[in-house]
Amino acid sequence: MRPTLIVGSIAFDTLHIQGKSHLKVLGGAATYASIAAAHFCPVQLVGVVGRDFPDSAVHLLRERGVDLAGLEIADGETFHWEGRYSEDLSSRETIRTDLNVFADFRPKIPETFRTAPFVMLGNMDPTLQIEVLDQVDKPRFVLADTMNLWIDIRHAELMTLLKRIDLLVVNDAEARQLSGHGNLVRAARELHAQGPKTVIIKKGEHGALLFQGEEIFSLPALPLHGVADPTGAGDTFAGALIGYLARANDLSGPSLRKAVVYGSVLASFCVEGISTERLTSATPADVHRRFEHFRQLTAF
Ligand code: AMP
Repeated sequence: MRPTLIVGSIAFDTLHIQGKSHLKVLGGAATYASIAAAHFCPVQLVGVVGRDFPDSAVHLLRERGVDLAGLEIADGETFHWEGRYSEDLSSRETIRTDLNVFADFRPKIPETFRTAPFVMLGNMDPTLQIEVLDQVDKPRFVLADTMNLWIDIRHAELMTLLKRIDLLVVNDAEARQLSGHGNLVRAARELHAQGPKTVIIKKGEHGALLFQGEEIFSLPALPLHGVADPTGAGDTFAGALIGYLARANDLSGPSLRKAVVYGSVLASFCVEGISTERLTSATPADVHRRFEHFRQLTAF
C-alpha cells in the first residue's frame, strides 16, 4: 500500500483542562497525524525527540504501523508544550513552549522515505517544510499545515511553500490572517491564487470547508456528548485525511470529500480522550460506524 510521509513536532504536552492537569502526556502535531493516518495506510514519520522520550511511546507508534526510521533521538529533552483551556474548551492559551531538541531540528528524510507519494508537512517553520520538499522525489500529493506564528515571522517563506503544495489546511483565523480577507470564500480564493489547488478551512466545533476551485463542500463537526481534550484535533484531521487519500489512491473531488469526512471522524475520536488515548483505541468498526453516522447527520 502507498505510504504517507509525515514530518513535524513530536512532543510532551502539559494540559490544564476543566480543573485537571495532565503532565507531560504524549503530543505533537506529527504524533497525532501519524496515529490518525495509520488507521488508513502505512506511515513514515520524521521528527526529533530527546533521550527522555519513553520506549512506551515508541512502541505505541511502531505497533500501529508507523515506520520510525526517520525518528531522530538527540541529546537533550523532547519538545514540551503547555496549554490551558477555557472552561467551555472553545479557546486555549499557551503557557509555555520549550522547544528543546526541536529548536535545532533539520529534517533528514531517510533514503527509503524519499519516494513516498503522499507527504504531510506538519506545522513547523516553513523553511523546514521547504527543506523536506527539497529532499523528496516528486510526491503525488503534498499537504501542509501552518500557524499564526509563521504567518507573522516567515511570511515570504510561507508564500514560497504555497507554490509547492497541493493542499493547505488552516483554521479560519489563519486563513483570514494569511489571505488578508475576512470573508472565508474570498480568503480561500486568494489562497488558491497563491498556489494550492485545494484549501481546507477548519472551524473547530463548527466543522470544515473544502474549496476546490469554485466547488465548496461543507461538513459540520460531529456533535459529541463530551469533549475531554481538544488538543491535536487539527493534526488528527489532516493525518486521517491524507491517510485516506493514500489508501484510496484517488484525488478526485468525491474522494476529497470522503477524506474530509474521515478526517472529521478521527478528530471526533481524538477529542474524546486525553492525549492520543481515544485516537489509539478506536477500532476500524468504530471508524466505520462514525462515518455512517456522518452520513445520517448530513442527509436531507
Ligand atoms: P492542535 O491542537 O491541532 O493545534 O495541535 C496541538 C499540538 O501541537 C500539541 O500536541 C503540541 O505539542 C503541538 N505544538 C504546539 N506548539 C507547537 C509549535 N510551535 N510547533 C509545532 N508543534 C506545536
